[in-house]
Amino acid sequence: MITRQQVDQLLQFQNGRYLVTSCYLNLDRTRVSPQALKIRIKDLIQSARHSLQGKSGTHEQRQSLQRDFERIEAFVQQDILGNRHKALALFSCDGEKFWQAYRLPRVVRNILIADHAPYIRPLKVMLAQQRRYCVALVDRAHGQVFEIYMGEIVEHKELPVDLPRWASEGGQGGREERNIERSYIAAVHQHFQRVADAAFHLFKQHQFDALLLGGHREVLLDFKEHLHAYLRERLAGEFTADPGRTSASEVLQQTELIERRIVADHEQRMAGELARNAPSGRAVSGMAATLAALRRGEAQLLLVEEGFESPGYVCRGCRHLSLDAATCPHCEQPSEPCADVVDEAVALALAHNCRIEHVQGATPLRDAGRIGALLRY
Ligand SMILES: [Zn+2]
Repeated sequence: MITRQQVDQLLQFQNGRYLVTSCYLNLDRTRVSPQALKIRIKDLIQSARHSLQGKSGTHEQRQSLQRDFERIEAFVQQDILGNRHKALALFSCDGEKFWQAYRLPRVVRNILIADHAPYIRPLKVMLAQQRRYCVALVDRAHGQVFEIYMGEIVEHKELPVDLPRWASEGGQGGREERNIERSYIAAVHQHFQRVADAAFHLFKQHQFDALLLGGHREVLLDFKEHLHAYLRERLAGEFTADPGRTSASEVLQQTELIERRIVADHEQRMAGELARNAPSGRAVSGMAATLAALRRGEAQLLLVEEGFESPGYVCRGCRHLSLDAATCPHCEQPSEPCADVVDEAVALALAHNCRIEHVQGATPLRDAGRIGALLRY
């Protein structure tokens, strides 16, 4: 599972001696067969190799780059067959023995470049959007705690789970039975508390964004009483499960179902807010107005419909973006065509500490030009 430390390590990686290769690959197998993907990746590596030949000077640098390509190709050819994620981000610098692979749950544009620092913009945008989940499965005798991030699931097994045997065996009637029942109830509460503590421990360690519970409704009702207030605030959903029997892949599936619903609601809300606020000037919509707000540093949240691309122009001097070919108003240089100003707008938003969210499918954003921003003031 991707940890915050791993991402930090990538952000800090810079190298003066060798080039680091950054590779993003769209592996969406719903549209393209694995065979066609393999060919596409071969082509991508071939053409990158061609254009990078002149870029690295020394023999060692070229060798390092060569081995980066080989490693990336080998990894991808394996990965296409064995996995189901939608995209990959790979970073390799053989000369420094640096290698990182990220399996991504959303599609990306294919990119393969080599430079002195890794190209992390698309990964950063995606990481900023992904929520880390904790899922607790609980009944009166079992408890399991899972962590889910970027489509991966890990069970945290440090939990002492099963109740002592005596607690679940019946008594012989009378006073002894009442005592046993009292002990049983106390043991169940203790057990709930242990599971709740384990979830809180994970929260302190990894700061998950949302908590989901799996089990039977009346048990979960009791269990929730034991959750720390921070966790109760982060409760995002429940599903029916049998702790001890429900598999990790079922837990992942249930989480993805709930997440899809949460995300769709959230995206509809954001797009609706944008549409409502545009007339009063607290939001802008459409490419031209959005670019202007980003340039002025007024945008607080950039909303982009996933898959939206639009050609435009960029000034090579100061990165000024525009929709028409014109002379840059700042440095009076002619602007150059760029294949996708949406991508440039995202970069501008990142540079201005503006949050970025991609919305999927038909939301009010579609009629508002597929791009827009909520403003700070
Ligand atoms: Zn300029």
